[in-house]
Amino acid sequence: VEQQLIQSQKMEAVGQLTGGIAHDFNKMLTVVIGNLDSLARALKGTGRNFDRAQMALTGALSCAELTRRMLAFARRQPLQPSAVNLGEVSRNITKLLGRTLGERIQIDVLVQDELWNVLADPAQVESSLINLAVNARDAMHEGGTLTIETRNVGRNERDADLPEGEFVLLSVTDTGAGMTPDVLERALEPFFTTKRMGHGTGLGLSMVYGFVKQSGGHVKIISTPGRGTSVRIYLPRTDAVPSVAAMLGEDLSLSGQ
Ligand code: ADP
Repeated sequence: VEQQLIQSQKMEAVGQLTGGIAHDFNKMLTVVIGNLDSLARALKGTGRNFDRAQMALTGALSCAELTRRMLAFARRQPLQPSAVNLGEVSRNITKLLGRTLGERIQIDVLVQDELWNVLADPAQVESSLINLAVNARDAMHEGGTLTIETRNVGRNERDADLPEGEFVLLSVTDTGAGMTPDVLERALEPFFTTKRMGHGTGLGLSMVYGFVKQSGGHVKIISTPGRGTSVRIYLPRTDAVPSVAAMLGEDLSLSGQ
């Protein structure tokens, strides 16, 4: 619980930082980049001073890219929760995931019968699933199996470290490289990544975490180096039922094209 408190404080701090500072920082950076660019041009592409200007410009452009990501992160859309069947969402997204992950990864979807509904933003559930699946793929260089499982977690069978309540569990499990304890400890932090430059933003898991927390749920990661990782999302049960429009959402939008 303390760990989660620290995590949500970090998220809030990053939100404030991005809102308040990133915007101004970006404006100042534009001046720096503009002048470095003129300087590099004036030095006509030769000599040590040109190389120095060029290096400074590259650094400034990386800063600009980072602020761009921070602004995008801060400007997240407000959530639009509705009653959602996580099993339906998981099944509907399998085709897309198959194309995204490639042939070497087998996808299994296990949906419990009479699965409860949860109150959550369906678009966020989908993008969380995609984020988690892409992470799983990145951890399975040699291929492997991705298992998406949804099941009810009642009051009596809940995990010891889950608070009181009824939840639906959505777990995404891979047979990949797993995380070392120090990576596991920091995995949910915004901007924490172990991936090469340009291959990871470090925002995937923190976005998932932010969305689940805002929806009144919980996130738990179980990972064993060399064996694989399981990201477990618990979303609170609701008695509301999904609207027909929501269930047909995808088909309706397709027929409109
Ligand atoms: P990114 O994927 O852009 O690096 P994330 O926040 O999604 O950002 O993940 C942070 C880090 O957590 C990753 O760089 C990786 O080290 C680790 N990680 C996330 N998911 C997995 C997974 N399924 N298996 C192994 N490591 C993972």
